[in-house]
Amino acid sequence: MSAAPHHHQPKLSRNQSEILSCLRRAKEPMSAYAILDRVRIAGISHPPTVYRALNELMQKGMVHRLQSRSAFIACGHGVCDGKFAFAICRQCGRVVEIPLSDADQAGLLGLAPDQIVPEQVTVEIAGLCEACRQ
Ligand SMILES: [Zn+2]
Ligand SMILES: [Zn+2]
Repeated sequence: MSAAPHHHQPKLSRNQSEILSCLRRAKEPMSAYAILDRVRIAGISHPPTVYRALNELMQKGMVHRLQSRSAFIACGHGVCDGKFAFAICRQCGRVVEIPLSDADQAGLLGLAPDQIVPEQVTVEIAGLCEACRQ
């Protein structure tokens, strides 16, 4: 487990814990249906249950959504404040979470034109990881 000890760990329901440990074991992005397949054995068998727990884990900053893949991944730092970008290897799918500073985040949101009031920003950088560059 890569939980950062300096962060407060929120208390989780049983469903949230099952889904979080499933994602942490996988160490890669998973679709909600792939998660459902793995947690069936723990008695979680309905998609809405999985989506609800995923939403709650995202609000707690322990799970993030990869927009480009419609997939979910455990926070690379255990838990974070929701300011992050992702770098994704386009060959093997390896994902690395990049923490963003308040200034990074503000700079990105500041790119929004006058017509759109910015609320959130998603940054996903594609490239090749070290292993795939050989
Ligand atoms: Zn995070
Ligand atoms: Zn790779």
